[in-house]
Amino acid sequence: MTDKIFHQPLGGNDMPRFGGPATFMRLPAIEAHEGLDVGFIGVPFDIGTSNRPGARLAPREIRDESRMLRPFNVSTGADPFHSLSVADIGDVPINTFNLQKSMHIIEDFYDDVLAKGISPLTMGGDHTIALPILRALKKKYGPIGMVHIDAHADVNDNMFGEKIAHGTPFRRAVEEGLLDGDRVAQIGLRGTGYSADEYDWSRDQGFRVVQAEECWHKSLVPLMEEIRAKVGDGPVYISFDIDGLDPAFAPGTGTAEVGGLTVMQGIEIVRGCKGLSVVGGDLVEVSPPYDTSHNTSLVGANLLYEMLCVLPGVNYTER
Ligand code: MN
Ligand code: MN
Repeated sequence: MTDKIFHQPLGGNDMPRFGGPATFMRLPAIEAHEGLDVGFIGVPFDIGTSNRPGARLAPREIRDESRMLRPFNVSTGADPFHSLSVADIGDVPINTFNLQKSMHIIEDFYDDVLAKGISPLTMGGDHTIALPILRALKKKYGPIGMVHIDAHADVNDNMFGEKIAHGTPFRRAVEEGLLDGDRVAQIGLRGTGYSADEYDWSRDQGFRVVQAEECWHKSLVPLMEEIRAKVGDGPVYISFDIDGLDPAFAPGTGTAEVGGLTVMQGIEIVRGCKGLSVVGGDLVEVSPPYDTSHNTSLVGANLLYEMLCVLPGVNYTER
C-alpha cells in the first residue's frame, strides 16, 4: 500500500507555458497504475469519421492547448489536484489501418485502466471511440447512464452499410445493453435530417432528447436540474462531442452544424453534472486541421478540465 501521490500540473512560473513536452495540463506522463484516481487518455483515431477528417491529431493539440489551465477552479471552488491523484497516461496505440481491430485495442486498454481503479477522461478521436469505452465500462458497472452533448444523436443503424462508425455508437450501445436508456440525455441535437422523426428512436429508448432550440437564449442550469433527476444516483458517463457547440465557438470539427450551444452553456452542462456518480468522460471530434485559431482545442481542453472538477471525490472550497 503506497501513499497517494497528488501530482500537480507544472506551473507557469516553473517552466514557460510553451516549453516542455505537451501533456494534459502539463501533468506527469506516467503509466496507468493502481492508486491513480484519474487518467487523461488520448485516442488518436479518426477512421470512423464521415466528413472532414483530422480528429486523430486532436489528443496532441488538446494537450498543447491545455497549457494555460491552472489547477484551481476559481469559479466553482473545485480543487481537483489536492483531492485526486491525476496524471496523463498517454495514448491508446490504435491500428489506424483497421477499425475493427482498433475497437478491441481501445476496449482492452480501458479494461486495464478500469481494473486499476482509474477514472478515464479521454481526448478523442472521433465519436466511434465511445463504443469500446462503454463496452469496457459495462463490464465494471453494468448498464450506465450518460449525458451526451452533440449536434447529432449518433444512433444511425449503419453508415455506408457499416455498423461501426462515428454516427452509430449509441445505437450499438443500446443494442448491446451498455446504456440504461431511462438514464440517458442527449443535448444540443439539431440540423437537417433524413426524416422528420430523426430523434424518435432515441426517445423510444427512454432518452431525454434536448434539441438545440430548447437551449437557445437561456441558461442551462435549470435543465441540468432536470437531467440530474433523470440520471439519478447510478454510474454515468459524459460524452461531449465538440460539435454540440456552435461552429462560431468550435469550428475545428468534422461535421459542423449551425445554431449550436455556446461555450457558456457547455460549461453549465458539465458543471451541472456535479453530484452525479460520474465514472468517466470524453471530449471528441476536435479536428485540428480545421481549427486554424486553435480555439476549438482550447475549448475542448477546458471542458475536459471541467469534467475532472465534477468527478466524485473532488473537494470544493466554499467561498
Ligand atoms: Mn458525435
Ligand atoms: Mn456530432
